[in-house]
Amino acid sequence: MWREGGVCFEPMELTFEERLAGLVEASLDGRDPGREELAWLLQAPDERTLEIVSAVSRVRFAAFGRRVKLNLLLNIKSGLCPEDCHYCSQARDSKAPILSYPMVGEETFCAAAERARELGATRLCLVASGRGPTEREVAQVARGVEAVKAADGAMEICACLGLLSDGQAEQLGEAGVYAYNHNLNTSESFYDAICDTHTFADRQETVGRAREGGLSPCSGALFGMGESDGDVLDAGYALRAIEPDSVPINFLIPIEGTPLAGVNQLTPQRCLRILAVFRLLFPRAEVRIAGGREVHLRSLQPLGLYLANSIFIGDYLTTKGQAAEADLAMIADAGFEIEGGGPPQEREGELAEVALKQAVLD
Ligand code: SF4
Repeated sequence: MWREGGVCFEPMELTFEERLAGLVEASLDGRDPGREELAWLLQAPDERTLEIVSAVSRVRFAAFGRRVKLNLLLNIKSGLCPEDCHYCSQARDSKAPILSYPMVGEETFCAAAERARELGATRLCLVASGRGPTEREVAQVARGVEAVKAADGAMEICACLGLLSDGQAEQLGEAGVYAYNHNLNTSESFYDAICDTHTFADRQETVGRAREGGLSPCSGALFGMGESDGDVLDAGYALRAIEPDSVPINFLIPIEGTPLAGVNQLTPQRCLRILAVFRLLFPRAEVRIAGGREVHLRSLQPLGLYLANSIFIGDYLTTKGQAAEADLAMIADAGFEIEGGGPPQEREGELAEVALKQAVLD
């Protein structure tokens, strides 16, 4: 309430639609949408989620139109990690039954790039377990990347090898790596609850090293680990401060044998609201729905495409994704198009046939 010339004025309460429109306008103008407003959006009732998706999709369409970027993931070294990230099946103390193997050879890098091309993915993400790469491992990755680039110079390569030491980003860049992924994962204050062997600051430092080394920074988060709404927003603002070019949003797959097995605090509606918050915070960055899409968004996955402009196609690190054919059908059915043109035409026909047969069988 305020007074002017002896008259009392009550502040007008904004309607739900007006507050939502304010958030969208701020984001479209490149302004900070405001922590309090984003907290309000996160806490919105489930029945308003469709309105949120519809309003925030304006930000997505403004920057990316109907394009969806596809990324394929290759686990180039699996298991036996000395770190103890509680969400990870490859961690030191994990009892999850996963495959463990040392770094794969160049032929596996090339086969994955071929598979990416067949599916219409324009980025190949090379992920290795471990605290950070040894010099030998960086050299191995460099050889694999050079082989991929020699066969297909257009394939974008992202490396995710853990904490970087001085000079490693530069080496990777020289070999043809375009981007480096290292997620902040959660808020600084919640970080101790999910990992004891490295810090939030270590992660921030590696993202900085990647950028300084000339790589495109890719850094995102993982939700559903017991974090509060405040942690979601802290993670969002910490990421905004480091200005990543791409922001993968993961939803926890609570794997048996890890400390977070059995934790399930997500609903499809909450996942969509989290994606909306990140789209508003990153109006022009590539926001990618990463691990946990199928498990947590379930039948609402197509709505996620109205907020994010990028997804993984195929499997994740140690868990299965839905069939690539189903992803391609979902994108087409929702009226989106694949960035870079999608699978080669003959492959597209073949995939459509598989999807149709599958639908009949189901
Ligand atoms: S450093 Fe990477 S591979 Fe190792 S436990 Fe953490 S997330 Fe898993």
